[in-house]
Amino acid sequence: KTDFAGYEVGYDIPALPGMNEADIQTPCLILDLDALERNIAKMGAYAAAHGMRHRSHGKMHKSVDVQKLQESLGGAIGVCCQKVSEAEVFARGGIQDILVSNQVRDPQKIDRLARLPKTGARILVCVDDVANVADLSAAAVRHGTELECFVEIDCGAGRCGVKTTPAVLAIAQAIDAAPNLKFTGLQAYQGAMQHMDSFEDRKAKLDAAIAQVRDAVEALTALGLEPELVSGGGTGSYYFESNSGVYNELQCGSYAFMDADYGRIKDRDGQRIDQGEWENALFILTSVMSHAKPDLAVCDAGLKAQSVDSGLPFIYGRDDVKYIKCSDEHGVIEDKDGVLRVNDKLRLVPGHCDPTCNVHDWYVGVRNGKVETVWPVSARGKGY
Ligand code: PLP
Ligand code: MN
Repeated sequence: KTDFAGYEVGYDIPALPGMNEADIQTPCLILDLDALERNIAKMGAYAAAHGMRHRSHGKMHKSVDVQKLQESLGGAIGVCCQKVSEAEVFARGGIQDILVSNQVRDPQKIDRLARLPKTGARILVCVDDVANVADLSAAAVRHGTELECFVEIDCGAGRCGVKTTPAVLAIAQAIDAAPNLKFTGLQAYQGAMQHMDSFEDRKAKLDAAIAQVRDAVEALTALGLEPELVSGGGTGSYYFESNSGVYNELQCGSYAFMDADYGRIKDRDGQRIDQGEWENALFILTSVMSHAKPDLAVCDAGLKAQSVDSGLPFIYGRDDVKYIKCSDEHGVIEDKDGVLRVNDKLRLVPGHCDPTCNVHDWYVGVRNGKVETVWPVSARGKGY
């Protein structure tokens, strides 16, 4: 629980609960709590209706508070994250089921991971190399804990993971035989197709991934190693995994906040997914600080307030003004008709939510023009 005693608005924090939205210090992240709650409840209802567990991806928000909302309102069964340090944050925050959806190879990180079950949480990790199994096992034995393992399949993302069923079997058998490790299932996240524009193109990629995962599941089952969990899926694909008959766990992240890059992709009817399927809940609140030229406004959210790897932000709810360029501390806005005034506040939808959240300390939760809550970005900057 965050205790705001002694916090000075502007110096320590961009806003405090109870303030008017108009008085929030910028640039900062704001969450439209109504939209956030609707997104979370919607994904929860979808997962429940399809008999899927939802392990929401915490690397997106890095927030214990958002994760708890996903569990209470959206029925999420736990979290996945990408780093041991993030897992430590979620474990200390009381999250009970934590997957590091990544490889952990550094001996000190393995040691930290193996300690985490002592918090009472179920801890899972991905493995794509037999050589990792002995190290994970030795650390778990040393701490008297159990680590659960997913064999990671590269089903098209082209990063970690093995590509063949024999390789999956060999690692699963090694895990099964190793003291203090449990073979729990498969990690099969197709990350390369999530942002493809067309529904049909995404489906073709996921059809191939599902066939590959099904082959591995059947071979494991024949060996007596039927996976308890088969996990994957993101905001651009979750309906494919949910109807596959092979996966039983989703890992969606961006759906809760949305961003400009995801907003562009199309649903099966060809409609942008930010025009019905999901709502923009995350914004960078920014203020106009200069309008020295009649057709250009400059706002206070530049590169340091966001990640532009997936494109520039767009200005929410406005088609008369356009964010066209940014440098470290400046955002340049085309204002052809000169409609903006200094100190006007605008909501930017960031190009890419995950790395944008990672450069802020706080989420300011707003509803009906008031600041209702301020949450820390609990795992902000934690990449080690
Ligand atoms: N699972 C893994 C392993 C990921 O790397 C990611 C995001 O990149 C996700 C799930 C969540 O995907 P999304 O934000 O597209 O919903
Ligand atoms: Mn992302």
